[in-house]
Amino acid sequence: MMRHDVAVVGGGCVGLSVAKHLAESTDLDVAVLEKEHHLASHQSGRNSGVLHPGFNYEPGSTKARFAAEGTARMKEYCAEHDVSCEEWGVLVVAKSDSEERRLHELADQAESNGVAYELFDSPAAIREHEPYAEGQAALYAPEAASVDSEQYVYALAKEARKLGVTVYTGYEVESIEHATEGYRLDTSNGRFDVSLLVNAAGLHADTLAHQVGVGEGYQVVPFRGEYYEVRPERAELCETMIYPTPDPELPFLGVHYTRRADGKVIVGPNAVLAFGREAYENTDLNPGELFETLTFGGFRRLLASKKMLGVAWDELNKSYRKAMFVAAAQRLVPDVRADDLHKSYAGIRAQLVSEEGELVKDPLFVERDDAVHVLNAVSPGLTCSLPFGEHIAETIAAKR
Ligand SMILES: Cc1cc2nc3c(=O)[nH]c(=O)nc-3n(C[C@H](O)[C@H](O)[C@H](O)COP(=O)(O)OP(=O)(O)OC[C@H]3O[C@@H](n4cnc5c(N)ncnc54)[C@H](O)[C@@H]3O)c2cc1C
Repeated sequence: MMRHDVAVVGGGCVGLSVAKHLAESTDLDVAVLEKEHHLASHQSGRNSGVLHPGFNYEPGSTKARFAAEGTARMKEYCAEHDVSCEEWGVLVVAKSDSEERRLHELADQAESNGVAYELFDSPAAIREHEPYAEGQAALYAPEAASVDSEQYVYALAKEARKLGVTVYTGYEVESIEHATEGYRLDTSNGRFDVSLLVNAAGLHADTLAHQVGVGEGYQVVPFRGEYYEVRPERAELCETMIYPTPDPELPFLGVHYTRRADGKVIVGPNAVLAFGREAYENTDLNPGELFETLTFGGFRRLLASKKMLGVAWDELNKSYRKAMFVAAAQRLVPDVRADDLHKSYAGIRAQLVSEEGELVKDPLFVERDDAVHVLNAVSPGLTCSLPFGEHIAETIAAKR
């Protein structure tokens, strides 16, 4: 049996940021329990790696504050810890009058959130910036950047270990229960007794929270995001990052182009229901987890909306029919051809859905006397991970 003051379940960017901040600011004995042998095996290592500076988020919202602060802090962190980070900037393209109106709202949000931006009001102005992008107007946000998210997670782990944190990899938390004082965690490698708990288990955070009676009105619904990579010989099709104008009703940004920190250009992700929380291929199926999703009232209510059903059908098509994916990519860059794109990796978003059938769009951290459960570390969770981790560490430290 192992004993620590605090157990942080989950070795993604959120869990490791919490551990680092706890070790920096307290003398608590902190352990991180990660089920995989490699850190960043799930969301934190399988994403677009974009630092979103915050023009997308409603002024005054948690996301707006954390994204702006997170972007600035992450750039400093990457410079200090030798993590690849390239400040390419992002171009958000409008293809219709309604999208152009939405672009102006984004510009207002950027203004309120203190995010730098420029508006381009003609196809020629857009092409001056991105020669292959097509649209009638665009917003350019120069502060957006690409980071190597896996390198970043490993840098956090290295720092946390130096500060005294024990990082246990290959330790899956199988059950959590209240003990006389604190919690008893049964893992694949033995029992842990701890006084304080941080549940940052990403795609499985709801399952663990439910074991101690937390967050029962919510369930994680896994949405896979698939990427294609542009052949290196055609990488000039996107010099920086090209995004569509986002639909404010959807939590996903739509298929876009990202020049990663290593210079590769990826296109995606789509957002298709995954038939399992770690079903990374569109042929993967976890019957138990799929059953859990399909029988969840919140999921059925979500699909009762005509709009969501239409979106779900389109996204499913993009997963199984490359031509549909290519068509979405051509909307932004008409010159891209099917043979310019080859299948790359996929990530799965832990999208929290409420019993009422709502996609939870804001971060959700549920506090108990001796615990914090990170139920929704939704995108831009990577961008926000330093301020998220600091905030959760302060909350936990106040409970000792
Ligand atoms: C396709 C995609 C694209 C994205 N793009 C961006 C982007 O460009 N910019 C941005 O800011 N954000 C982006 N995000 C969001 C961002 O990646 C997440 O918000 C962030 O990584 C969440 O981190 P996490 O630590 O909470 O979760 P995770 O990285 O999933 O970490 C949770 C960890 O818990 C472990 N775990 C789970 N269950 C157990 C258990 N029982 N016992 C022990 N360990 C357990 C898992 O193995 C995992 O390592 C994207 C996400 C996806 C999926």
